[in-house]
Amino acid sequence: VNFKELPLSEAVLKAIDEMGFESPSKIQEKSIPEIIKGRDIIGQAQTGTGKTLAFGGSLLSMMEHTGYVQAIILSPTRELAKQIYDEFKKIGRFTDLSFTCVYGGSEIERQIRDIKRGKDIVIGTPGRVMDLMRRKVLSLSQVKYFVLDEADEMLNMGFVEDIETIMETIPEERQTILFSATMPDGIKKIASSYMKNDYLHIR
Ligand code: AMP
Repeated sequence: VNFKELPLSEAVLKAIDEMGFESPSKIQEKSIPEIIKGRDIIGQAQTGTGKTLAFGGSLLSMMEHTGYVQAIILSPTRELAKQIYDEFKKIGRFTDLSFTCVYGGSEIERQIRDIKRGKDIVIGTPGRVMDLMRRKVLSLSQVKYFVLDEADEMLNMGFVEDIETIMETIPEERQTILFSATMPDGIKKIASSYMKNDYLHIR
């Protein structure tokens, strides 16, 4: 399969071409068409399988610039959040979408100014996202796409209540995309409580 056979936008295909990737990985080939169709999915995939480009390429192909937050991506650690952000910068360079990255242990004032400038996509860790919500800097009322990356790690790190609080703030009509290396009961519970009944489990 060639990337061009996937329903990605011209801007994203051009970026992928410049990144030098020749063909989609398994998880990309299987999940990109379903995400772009609007399905809720659980992608069971380890780090290194190309999962970031799977959800990133899909979101950056589907979304249009508005300047308010339409997509939120949660990651368990600041290192992973930064990695996702760096990958989005590459995949999204030919789009007009704006994104930012928020995480604890760094100056919140800069992050507040950045969000206030108007971002389409926010990538962050649960604690800092909650903090920005409490300060009324970050509103999730217009979010259409919700991504939980390394969801099993987030449960292991004790973020389940934060994740639930965040999910309850996002409109129900959203599309939920969850990536996890393993499928413990906690993940199945999140899926049955917060995802559409017809979600797909892709591996
Ligand atoms: P991830 O699983 O998202 O952490 O991605 C692992 C690494 O593989 C990242 O450095 C990506 O830039 C790279 N990558 C993603 N998709 C592909 C692909 N289709 N072909 C080659 N490398 C890729």
